[in-house]
Amino acid sequence: MTEIRSTVILGSGCAGLTAAIYTARAGLNPLVLEGHEPGGQLSITTLVENFPGWPDGIQGPELIENMKKQAARFGAAFQLAHLNRVELGVHPFRLHTSEGEICARTLIVASGASARWLGLPSEQALIGHGVSSCATCDGFFFRGKEIAVVGGGDSAMEEALFLTRFATKVTLLHRRESFRASKIMLERAMAHPNIELRANTVVVEVLGVEEKEVRGLRLRDVTNNAESTLPVSGLFLGIGHEPNAKIFGGQIDLDEDGYIRTTGNVLTARNGAVAPGVFACGDVQDRRYRQAITAAGSGCMAALEVEKYLEEHGH
Ligand code: NAP
Repeated sequence: MTEIRSTVILGSGCAGLTAAIYTARAGLNPLVLEGHEPGGQLSITTLVENFPGWPDGIQGPELIENMKKQAARFGAAFQLAHLNRVELGVHPFRLHTSEGEICARTLIVASGASARWLGLPSEQALIGHGVSSCATCDGFFFRGKEIAVVGGGDSAMEEALFLTRFATKVTLLHRRESFRASKIMLERAMAHPNIELRANTVVVEVLGVEEKEVRGLRLRDVTNNAESTLPVSGLFLGIGHEPNAKIFGGQIDLDEDGYIRTTGNVLTARNGAVAPGVFACGDVQDRRYRQAITAAGSGCMAALEVEKYLEEHGH
């Protein structure tokens, strides 16, 4: 018979690992399924300067490694497995993974959201070396420099406006003529003296792969195919995020963009009613804050809810 786990945590970013620390320390022997991006988004950033407790900053991968060690110290188990299918309508829940079937009394979904990238090889090669998808995380490194932001929605406007605190000039590149962003955000960006909006423009290549730092962008005007070079030291992607929650469609409620709907911070729902035993934390349910510390905080809340749930159900 398959062993029944008290709790399984899906995802090993900041939210999942914090949930692992708390549930492990509570003696629940959590199993963490590491997912397709072990360590989550922090594992692809460089210096994290705003995580409390690290006055000189800490490298993202090191922070994640520390959290993992901390969870392992209290008995959390880790498995590199991909979740293929879940059955949340039965108790205990059944998780069908690439490594076999797991039964769990509770499930903490911390599968995160993945930033969208353009998908250019030169962009991928320079992530963490001038290419970033997180202005709050990396903007500080571009003080006194010229940078570019890609996107035409609210995220791109917000990133561009935020980045003017550091950069001397922000060029906002959008692939179409009209912008998806709300009127107020677009007007703010347009009115800013250090932001230049360029519509109908796509990035063809990020320059600087050999030098291992962004030196500029090769751009194409889609109206006439004319190519040009924009000398910048940084490229920020503001083209949206994809919550990693598709697998839960039909089992727990998702919002119109595919994020898990939560109430009471981390409780999930099924057809509007609380889904017992299933909790969600971190970016898979947060489109607003998306910070390492807020993900960690919600991971803690999910763990405490799991403890309470198991206690109330006599486990
Ligand atoms: P979004 O509204 O989906 O916008 C994504 C933008 O990126 C679009 O302009 C899209 O272009 C562009 N894009 C997507 N893929 C691209 C690609 N491969 N190459 C070039 N451009 C690409 O996403 P978002 O801006 O992250 O916003 C998501 C939601 O959160 C929205 O509802 C938004 O209002 C909300 N939000 C609100 C605020 C705020 O109010 N302060 C801040 C952030 C986000 P097209 O337009 O051509 O499709």
